[in-house]
Amino acid sequence: MDATREYDPSYKVTTKQIFSTGKYLDYRVTPYFEAMMTAAKKAGVTLSPYSAYRSYEHQKTNLENFTRQFQAQGYSRAAAEKKAQAQILPPGTSEHNLGLAVDINGTSTPFEKTKAFAWLQQHAHEYGFILRYPKGKEAVTGIVYEPWHWRFVGTALAPKIRESGLTLEEYLPLHGYLI
Ligand SMILES: [Zn+2]
Repeated sequence: MDATREYDPSYKVTTKQIFSTGKYLDYRVTPYFEAMMTAAKKAGVTLSPYSAYRSYEHQKTNLENFTRQFQAQGYSRAAAEKKAQAQILPPGTSEHNLGLAVDINGTSTPFEKTKAFAWLQQHAHEYGFILRYPKGKEAVTGIVYEPWHWRFVGTALAPKIRESGLTLEEYLPLHGYLI
C-alpha cells in the first residue's frame, strides 16, 4: 500500500500489544514481532518498537505537524505538504494505520549502521518482515530510504521478496498479485 492507495477509513484494525511495550500491531502480526524480538535478544540485539500501529487521527496530526514545520521554514503550503508527504503518508495510506508496519529503535538513518539493522537484514524475513523502503528505490516506493521501517508480509512471502531484491510494489505485480 502506498500514498495512492487509501484504505476505507471504516476498516477496523484489531490490534494486540507487543509484550508490555505500550505499542500495538495487528493482532495477527504481533506474535511474529514478539518472536523476532526474542530471537534478536538471544543474539544480544535489542529491537524496540518505536512506532507501530497509528490511528487515522494520529496520522493526520503527524502529517499536519510536519507540514507546519516546513511552512515555518518558508515553504509554501503546497510545497510544505509535498515535503511532509515524502516522510509521512496521508492518513489512511500508511502501513502504520493498518498495524502491519513497525519503526524499530527510532526513526533515524544512522540506524543502518547498528547491530540491530545488520541482524534485521539477516533475519527479519524469517519472521515475515521486509525492509519496505530501501535505499535507491525512492522513485519506485515514493518514500525516502527508511532503514527503521519494517513491514509484515508473512513468512511465505518475505524470504522471496528479500531474495528478489525488489520492493513490494515491484514484486507483487510480477508474481500475479493485484495491487
Ligand atoms: Zn514507519
